[in-house]
Amino acid sequence: MKRKLFLSKILLPTIIVFTVTLAVTQIVAYKTYSVEKTKELELAEKEAAHIKQQIELSLNHSITATKMIAFLVEKNLISNNFNSVAEDLIQQNKFIDALQLVEGSTIVKTYPLKGNEAVIGFNIFSNPNHKREAIEAINRKELYFEGPFELKQGGKAIVGRLPIYKNKEFWGFSAIIIKMETLFNIMGIDKQGENDQFVYQIYKIADNKERNFFFNHNEEMKAGVFHETFIKLGNWNVVVKLKSPNHLYKALPFSLLGILFSCLLAYFVFILSIQPLKLKQDVKRKTIELSKVNKTLEIRANELAISNSELEQFAYVASHDLQEPLRMVTSFLSQLEKKYENQLDEKAIQYISFAIDGATRMRNIILDLLEFSRAGNYDEEKELINTNEIVEQANVLLRKVIEEKNATIIYKDLPTIIAYRSPIVQVFQNLISNGLKYAKADIAPIIEVSAKELKNEWQFAIKDNGIGINKEYHDKIFVIFQRLHHQNEYSGTGMGLAIVKKIIENFGGKIWLESEEGKGSTFYFTLSKQNSNH
Ligand code: ADP
Repeated sequence: MKRKLFLSKILLPTIIVFTVTLAVTQIVAYKTYSVEKTKELELAEKEAAHIKQQIELSLNHSITATKMIAFLVEKNLISNNFNSVAEDLIQQNKFIDALQLVEGSTIVKTYPLKGNEAVIGFNIFSNPNHKREAIEAINRKELYFEGPFELKQGGKAIVGRLPIYKNKEFWGFSAIIIKMETLFNIMGIDKQGENDQFVYQIYKIADNKERNFFFNHNEEMKAGVFHETFIKLGNWNVVVKLKSPNHLYKALPFSLLGILFSCLLAYFVFILSIQPLKLKQDVKRKTIELSKVNKTLEIRANELAISNSELEQFAYVASHDLQEPLRMVTSFLSQLEKKYENQLDEKAIQYISFAIDGATRMRNIILDLLEFSRAGNYDEEKELINTNEIVEQANVLLRKVIEEKNATIIYKDLPTIIAYRSPIVQVFQNLISNGLKYAKADIAPIIEVSAKELKNEWQFAIKDNGIGINKEYHDKIFVIFQRLHHQNEYSGTGMGLAIVKKIIENFGGKIWLESEEGKGSTFYFTLSKQNSNH
C-alpha cells in the first residue's frame, strides 16, 4: 500500500514532469539543430549555384569562339584565316587559352602554335578517353567539354569540342582549350580547391566508372553539409562542402541545458510531492504517541480518582468513627474529675484537665478532617449567590471576635455568582477569620474584601493588616495540618487554608497570596463566572 502510494503520488508526477520537460526541451533543441542545418545547407547550395553560374558564364564565351571557327570551315575560309581569327578571339576572351582545329580526328591547327607544336598531327581517336568524349560531342551536336586531363604539350586543362559539318557530313572539330589555372581564376578558387569557408570538388564519371577530378585533395565530399549540382556542358558534378559546420554546436547547449533543467524540475517536484507524505507520516506518528500518552494519562487519572475516593472514604470513616471513643474519653474524664474532685490532688486535676484539653483538640482536628474529606461533595443545587451577603453573613458569625478586636470589615459592590452556597460561605469565612486571628497585637484589624472582573472569572481579594507571612511559607500554609505558629500563640489545626484551596480548585479556580512578614497579607482567589461545570 505504502509502495503503491509512493509510486502514484511521488514517482509518477516526477517521471511525468521529467519526461515532458525533457521532450519539450529536446524538441526545441532538435528544431534549433534543423533550422541551423538548413541554413548551412542553403549556404552550400548558394555557393554551388554561384560556382556553376561562374563556370557556365565563362564557357559560354567558348561557344561563340568555336562556332566562329566552325563557320570559317564551312565557308572554306579557314586555311588563310585560322591564325588571325584565333588570335582575335583569344585576345578578346581571357577565358580561352588556345584554339584548335581537328580535321576528322587529327589535330591540324592550333593557336598559339608556340609551345603547342607537339599536338599537330595527333590523332585524338588514338586515346580511348578522347575518342569517347569526342563521340559524345558528335552525338550532342554541340560544344562538349572533356577533362581535365594532362595535355600532350604539358599542363592540365579541359578541352571543349564543337563538331563541324560540311555539306551535312561530319568534317571534324573546332576545339577550345582552357587551362585549369584559368578555370580556377574564373571560379575564384585556388588550385587546392578550398577557401576559409568551403571545400570544392568538380568531377566527371566516365563510362568505365573512372573519375576525373578538378582538385587533388582527398576530402570526403559527400558527408556533412554539402550540395551537389550538375553542369551539362562537361557532364561535371559540382560539390560544395561547408568546411566547419556548427549547427550541432548551436543545438548542443540547448539540449544539455534541457536535460539539466528537466533533472532540476523533476527533483523539485520530487521534493515538493514528498512533503505531504512526510507530513502525513509525522502526524500519524505524533497521533500514535499522543494517544499512547492519553491512555497513560487516563489510566493515571483513574488510579488517582480511585485512590482519592479511597482516601476520602478512609478519612471520613476514621474521623467519623473516632468521634465516639473520643467522646467517651472526654465524658469519662469529666466524670472522673467531677466524682473524685475531693480525693484528687491538684496535680491529678491538672493532668485530667490537660487530657480533656488534648481530647478536645483532637476532636477539633477530627472534625476538620471530616470537613476536608467532605469538601467537594455537595448535595445542594447551585444557586445565584450575592457575595456581599456572604461577607455580611461572615460578619454576623464572627461578630464576637470582631467586637473583641475592634476590627473593621470593608466590602463594597461584590458580584453575584452561580455556585454552591455552603462551600463559598466556608471560603470567605475561613479567610476573613484568619485575617482577624493573625492580626497584630496592638493594631485593630482592618479587613478589606474586593473583587475584580476578568474576562471569564472574578478575582476576589481579602486583604488584612496583620502579621503577614514570610515568602518561604507561601506554599506550605495551604498544605493540610501545616501551621506556622504554636497552639499557645494562635489556636488552630492548620486545616483552614487546605480546605479553602480544595474548594477553590474544585470549582476550577486558583488561590495564592501576596504577603511579607509584618506587612499584612492579601489572599487572592478566582471563581469562574459560569461556574456551571462544577
Ligand atoms: P490555622 O489557622 O488553623 O492554623 P490555616 O490553614 O487557616 O490553619 O492557616 C495555616 C497557617 O497560615 C496559619 O497557622 C498561619 O500561620 C498562616 N496564616 C493563615 N492566614 C494568615 C493571615 N491572614 N495572616 C498571617 N498568617 C496567616
